[in-house]
Amino acid sequence: MPADSKSSYYAALQIIQQAVISLIQWSGANFTPPQSSPTSSNEIHALIQKANHITGWTDAEPEALRLVFDRIHLTHKQTQPLYRPAWAIATETNEKTPRIPYTTRDRPDLDALKAAIQAASNQVAQHWTNLSWLTLFVEKFGSHLSLGEPDIALIDLARSTAAIAAALAQQPPDEKLVLIAGDLMGVQNFIYTISSEGALKSLRARSFYLEITTEEIVYRLLEALDLPRTNIIYAGASKFYILAAATESTQPVVQDLQSRFNDWLLKQFQRKVFLAMAIGSPFPVSDLSPTAPLVNTTTPFAHHWGQLNETLSAQGFRKFDRNLNEILEPQPSHEPCQVCHRDDTIDLTPLKKDDPTSANACPVCRQMFALGGRLLNAKGLVRTQTSQAELSIPEDQRNFEFDIGQDTDKVFYQVIDDFKPEKIRSEDALFLINDWELNHYSSDRCIPLFLGNYGQAGEEGFMSASEFAEASTGIKRVGYLRMDVDRLGQIFGRGLGTAHTLPRLTGLSRQMTYFFKVYLNSLAESRFKRLPDGATVLHSSSQRSNLLFIYAGGDDLFVSGSWNDVVDFAFDIYQSFRSYTGNHPDITLSSGISIETAKFPLYQAAAVAGDAEKIAKANDRDSLCLFGEVFKWDHWLGNQKPDSKSRAYLEDEAMPELLGVLPFVQKLLDPNEINIGYPQSFIRNLLVVAQLRQEKIQEIRKTQPCEEQAVTYYLHLPKLAYTLSRLPAQIRTHANFTPIRQSLMSPRNSPYFRAIATWIELLNR
Ligand SMILES: [Zn+2]
Repeated sequence: MPADSKSSYYAALQIIQQAVISLIQWSGANFTPPQSSPTSSNEIHALIQKANHITGWTDAEPEALRLVFDRIHLTHKQTQPLYRPAWAIATETNEKTPRIPYTTRDRPDLDALKAAIQAASNQVAQHWTNLSWLTLFVEKFGSHLSLGEPDIALIDLARSTAAIAAALAQQPPDEKLVLIAGDLMGVQNFIYTISSEGALKSLRARSFYLEITTEEIVYRLLEALDLPRTNIIYAGASKFYILAAATESTQPVVQDLQSRFNDWLLKQFQRKVFLAMAIGSPFPVSDLSPTAPLVNTTTPFAHHWGQLNETLSAQGFRKFDRNLNEILEPQPSHEPCQVCHRDDTIDLTPLKKDDPTSANACPVCRQMFALGGRLLNAKGLVRTQTSQAELSIPEDQRNFEFDIGQDTDKVFYQVIDDFKPEKIRSEDALFLINDWELNHYSSDRCIPLFLGNYGQAGEEGFMSASEFAEASTGIKRVGYLRMDVDRLGQIFGRGLGTAHTLPRLTGLSRQMTYFFKVYLNSLAESRFKRLPDGATVLHSSSQRSNLLFIYAGGDDLFVSGSWNDVVDFAFDIYQSFRSYTGNHPDITLSSGISIETAKFPLYQAAAVAGDAEKIAKANDRDSLCLFGEVFKWDHWLGNQKPDSKSRAYLEDEAMPELLGVLPFVQKLLDPNEINIGYPQSFIRNLLVVAQLRQEKIQEIRKTQPCEEQAVTYYLHLPKLAYTLSRLPAQIRTHANFTPIRQSLMSPRNSPYFRAIATWIELLNR
């Protein structure tokens, strides 16, 4: 895209250049913008001034960045201000991922970041008209600095200003803009409804394929609207938001794109996946100003945002109504695909080319299986309109290729393990996966693609379910973890209150999604280096690296792995996420884990974990459901404060030394605590006592509900005392055992000990 032919592109470029200059000047480096910049026309100059004025772009110096999550207010307020550490986002030496920017109480020192910018500034001149390179430069160095408002990151202010300028450059009537939103609905149906044949890596490929489909829709939409990538407010998982000019062509462009994609989606995935798209009402650009008058106690932008999302979700009820005739026509049904069960195709062949005994699968399932085999070392994707076959590239020299869209819309994506950007043809684009290396973005056609994609290598590509089970500690099982942010809709909808402006919302969604797409990889890759200070872990020697992310993005995740690693990872994620979001009481996670045999059907495992997650949500959120038990995370971790129900009832009981689930499991498993191990029978007996207690509680609830508290906290204690008395004398008389015994006998720990016993039992099986 030549910089001088497209005014939108050129307007955005100038804004991002201004952000780069601001960073470099602040760093103290010597820099004169290259003379080769095309001279700005008066018109463009005026609209850049306008965009700057609207968002509050300022010539002031960048400052430390306050935490945008501190602004969130649903039921609680954050009291003490927090900061992000001031550093550049970069992959560390000998690592594949960046470190996690946990919050700090102290205002960070900015000198190291200044020095990093100085060091990088000598590369700027040669990329001066490369919008992609410059944007990544601002993102790397300006994500942890503020400009103007203390909680608005420089990158988010720059992107928002560029988006406004690019939209205004299309000269919409009355300077009106619109928000466009899209959502690939039914993604879960496509990903999770497959049987076990084809395994985890197919599941991973399916979620990857849908991510790329979302990218493709955004790519196509921006192209059709003539807008640069800085107009993306948010894109990830299966959703996207774009700021555009309200011109005559906006509506037809969006409708055309939506119907083309839905025609294809209907054929490709039957009725499982649907593209919903919505265009908000046009609004004057002045509505984006932070000083615009409030509409019913919210900002005009929040008002437009809310309306847009309502329109978008309403589309879910009218799926495919345009294609209704096609759907209602009787379809011939054939032998179903053994993987996804579709029955509308006769093209079924073995899933694995060289294994005729493998399941008979449809073309989509075969393609997903093959793609799953290519993702472990994927570094990027080439997007092209010409297939390798059309280019007559010999078969043995081709990259793995898949396609999206049909007929004239068809594009090809090639998976590449090592890339040579200079080989990219001028009409192609190159998506670089999780790549923060500026010098890889040599052309404007190089686009960063962030994906939560950690996976441990196994015998063949990613580790398989049976490899995970084999590698687990204790019982040989696979764990499936589902987790998502509580009340996300409310956080984005009303959490920012009167501070709901475009740059702040952009920053909020970027930081939220970066946790799942960028930093979750960091946490998975290098456990002890990346956990926040003071995190609680079960084993300080376990790297818990046997994991495969099926899906991680937006605000949720689905991860599989060796069951004990998955459990450890869940605790790590929770603590990492809370620290990253400043331990804000309104920003929490709920999670469910299922533990299954390697042969257990994946769609059922996903459903069981999903049900567990629902139970956690129903426990007033901020909870984990594991081993069939649900508690607040603080109770699992042993950080709990007594809840109001038990507080009054147990007020005479002393506080035990150990409280909660994890502290006990830790102590009971630690070989240094008691020199000889606990007999298997002891753990079994604990389980039996826990089981009896559970049954008694069920019974008393029906017969004498007023006695429930007594049964819950006290009835099992004599049996427990008996079990403890049967332990070998060496243990009973050991000094380290006294606090364990006293704590176990405390009624305050009564609710937990079934979970404690189950956990230890599974680890020792
Ligand atoms: Zn299939």
